[in-house]
Amino acid sequence: MKSYRKELVFKTESRRKYVNITSEVERCLSDSGIKEGMVLVNAMHITASVFINDDESGLHHDFEVWLEKLAPEKPHSQYHHNGFEDNADAHLKRQIMGREVVVAITNGKLDFGPWEQIFYGEYDGRRPKRVLVKIIGE
Ligand code: ZN
Repeated sequence: MKSYRKELVFKTESRRKYVNITSEVERCLSDSGIKEGMVLVNAMHITASVFINDDESGLHHDFEVWLEKLAPEKPHSQYHHNGFEDNADAHLKRQIMGREVVVAITNGKLDFGPWEQIFYGEYDGRRPKRVLVKIIGE
């Protein structure tokens, strides 16, 4: 069995952002030489997500509105977590949107359903943060 590991780094200019990272994961898969197996992609920080959905800007706007209803950023004082930090909402948003995705690899390609794309979801950005790509197979 072969294995491959890489950390991708993202530094978004805004506090919240969605980044389509599908092509970067595909580059990792190509570099790994693995044709059959699984890829795990996970956020390495507890205020960011990796998830699969449609690359459609209206939907991303809807995510923002929906998450702000569930866990509004402000007022910061509404959260017990915000003693020395102001990112309680980011922890909650990440919890809903998820930590990781696993995708099957078939014939050297990500074996997606229709319209599936991999996203990095940032909820407390403006600093470098890492995503782990781990691929196993042969
Ligand atoms: Zn925190």
